[in-house]
Amino acid sequence: MLKLGVIGYPIGHSLSPRMHNAALRALSLDGEYSAIAVESAGLTEAVRGLFAQGFAGLNVTIPHKQAILPLMDELANSARVIGAVNTIVKVDGCMIGHNTDAAGFMRGLTNAGFNPAGARVFVMGAGGAARAVVYALCDARASVVVWNRTYERAERLASEFGVDAIDCLPMGTLGRFDLIVNTTSVGMSPHQDQTPLQFPMGERTPQWVYDLVYRPRETRFLREARAAGARTIAGLDMLVYQGAEAFTLWTGLAAPVDVMRNAIMDS
Ligand code: NAP
Repeated sequence: MLKLGVIGYPIGHSLSPRMHNAALRALSLDGEYSAIAVESAGLTEAVRGLFAQGFAGLNVTIPHKQAILPLMDELANSARVIGAVNTIVKVDGCMIGHNTDAAGFMRGLTNAGFNPAGARVFVMGAGGAARAVVYALCDARASVVVWNRTYERAERLASEFGVDAIDCLPMGTLGRFDLIVNTTSVGMSPHQDQTPLQFPMGERTPQWVYDLVYRPRETRFLREARAAGARTIAGLDMLVYQGAEAFTLWTGLAAPVDVMRNAIMDS
């Protein structure tokens, strides 16, 4: 039996068990994916213990995505550059750390029909998710500008990835970007009345808007962007695709993304 799971703390809210168990069932695989509460103090013991019990792979979520790095025997390039692991695969007794957030973000973008090569992209936020987004955009040769509430963090992130940072929201000229991405947690339930940016914002609305927040499914930011004429991509897409990438790493099979999406649609 294929034993998989997600570790984090708290973990009760995680949608991953529903998504992955539905995928395992849809492909008639003998496996189970569970949510495992692991506190920071017991991280090393818990991870070693789970793999000793026969786990083949794990997802890693808040607060362990960075702390898990030194426990890995090897890191995929994405995890090394982003500085965070969200997926562990056990191969020949070794723990290989991956980061599927970047690929999940990019798959959401390209599946919607956006071509990132040469595009001008405005990224709001400079936390963990922003690192995966900026990594993915740079890898796809987009031109990126980062803004963050705490400017120093934007500056650090920008200099690390060789992109630009700005210290105030360039209202009125945001329309010159092809895509705006919200990687901040603003607008996340229970604060769904908040938005990181108000529309209309000037003479021109950016053509594309992507919000990483997935609770609620359509944030105020996306709703208002859509009403202003932008094409929108929801955080749920990235969530499903990062899960799909992890599923493929563990099983070697194409993930049933529609099944995975349907499993969490009513969340
Ligand atoms: P994080 O590392 O804690 O970063 C939070 C970011 O939000 C920082 O840039 C922070 O700015 C900013 N922020 C927080 N409150 C703010 C406010 N009131 N006004 C302006 N900016 C504010 O968190 P994260 O891991 O990057 O996650 C960020 C969001 O992305 C969360 O909603 C998370 O659920 C979502 N996410 C979604 C996916 C997906 O698959 N869809 C994957 C990963 C994350 P400061 O630096 O100034 O504090």
